[in-house]
Amino acid sequence: MVKKRKILIPEPKSRFVKVKCPDCGNEQVIFDHASFPVRCLCGRLLAKPTGGKAIIYGKIVKVYG
Ligand SMILES: [Zn+2]
Repeated sequence: MVKKRKILIPEPKSRFVKVKCPDCGNEQVIFDHASFPVRCLCGRLLAKPTGGKAIIYGKIVKVYG
């Protein structure tokens, strides 16, 4: 089985969200279908890839698109 590779182009269903870190309060924009773990500057994991929509651990303060 060949594993399907995802290309980092936003799909119509996907969007960028601004997430606030629950630990340090830093806000950063991440892709909600991130295919790689996203960490805050403080090292806190903010998004975990699932193969589809990423699990977001911080508070979503803004949604783009
Ligand atoms: Zn942080």
